Amino acid sequence: VRTIGILGGGQLGRMLSVAASRLGLRCHIYEPGAAPAGDVAWRVTTAPYEDANALRAFAESVDVITYEFENVPTSALDLLESIRPIRPNRRALAVSQDRLTEKTFLNGIGLATAPFADVLTEADLDTAIAAIGRPSILKTRRMGYDGKGQVRIGAGPAEWTGAPSVLEGFVDFSAEISVIIARGADGQVAAFDPGLNVHEGGILRTTTVPCGLPGSVTTDAVLIAARIANGLDYIGVMGVELFVTPQGLIVNEIAPRVHNSGHWTQAGCAVDQFEQHIRAVAGLPLGDGKRYADVVMENLIGDDLDRVPDLLQTPNTQVHLYGKGAPRPGRKMGHVNRITG
Ligand code: ATP
Ligand code: MG
Ligand code: MG
Repeated sequence: VRTIGILGGGQLGRMLSVAASRLGLRCHIYEPGAAPAGDVAWRVTTAPYEDANALRAFAESVDVITYEFENVPTSALDLLESIRPIRPNRRALAVSQDRLTEKTFLNGIGLATAPFADVLTEADLDTAIAAIGRPSILKTRRMGYDGKGQVRIGAGPAEWTGAPSVLEGFVDFSAEISVIIARGADGQVAAFDPGLNVHEGGILRTTTVPCGLPGSVTTDAVLIAARIANGLDYIGVMGVELFVTPQGLIVNEIAPRVHNSGHWTQAGCAVDQFEQHIRAVAGLPLGDGKRYADVVMENLIGDDLDRVPDLLQTPNTQVHLYGKGAPRPGRKMGHVNRITG
């Protein structure tokens, strides 16, 4: 493998491209919109996912195709896959693109999720609330991220989002953690230490390692993530978000790609999640993801960018900026990894 095709040119594609270039590989990005990755990738194609000629030329120019964005239309994936392998595989994408399919899959391999009910139309909502109870959360099945497409249902009347959804029982968790796990083409599995995640307004604010939870919990978290990766015959890096509850771990969602809560690995491990993903999809052996530092990753969201001059002068702090242009409220502009021990 010499050239890796990446669907999506955001910050994840950008950091994957950097990791690939360190290994002597190069990336061709396919992105319909603005591509922050464009300044570091070998090549960028800017074209819609409906452009069959552009898709074909892209696929023919690469050895393997991966993605940093999981909502690529099926028709585009069908065409791409007829030309080059897609890693992680189509099943991993299909399962994680749709919250209903995802939860059904997770329950099917014996893992706990929040109780959920299918809500196809507004008329299903009352039945679902009767079954799941209150408080609960209505989430669109597809396309949601950073808490978008979600409505909390409390005591009052429920607001309908207009899209096929799942209603999830509210989980009274004591903490949120995530496992970044990698599975190689040969089936070898390597996990990074679970991180403790704090969200604000539905958006990840910080990830802290070590997460401070007992080994019994972190071991269980890693075993759950491995079960998911094996169950999907997965190749690449995957993020698994979990709720910690007195009854044990509950899987919130999975992301079939490098994950924001894994950015700390850039400062805490010899081989970070981006290199690990490139190694896996390129068919190279997985690297050593052992953690050698304590790290707090903080996202720079919107006007947090104003803090960059100070952060650039803060000791033990690694600053990552995505080159996205003007900050907007709620937009991830960069992150910092603070080495705390
Ligand atoms: P991401 O950007 O991580 O993809 P998302 O939009 O897919 O986010 P979720 O991860 O489903 O959203 O939810 C965002 C956050 O909302 C969770 O990290 C958690 O803090 C809270 N949350 C989600 N579902 C539940 C639940 N069933 N019970 C309690 N809190 C929840
Ligand atoms: Mg999500
Ligand atoms: Mg999430």
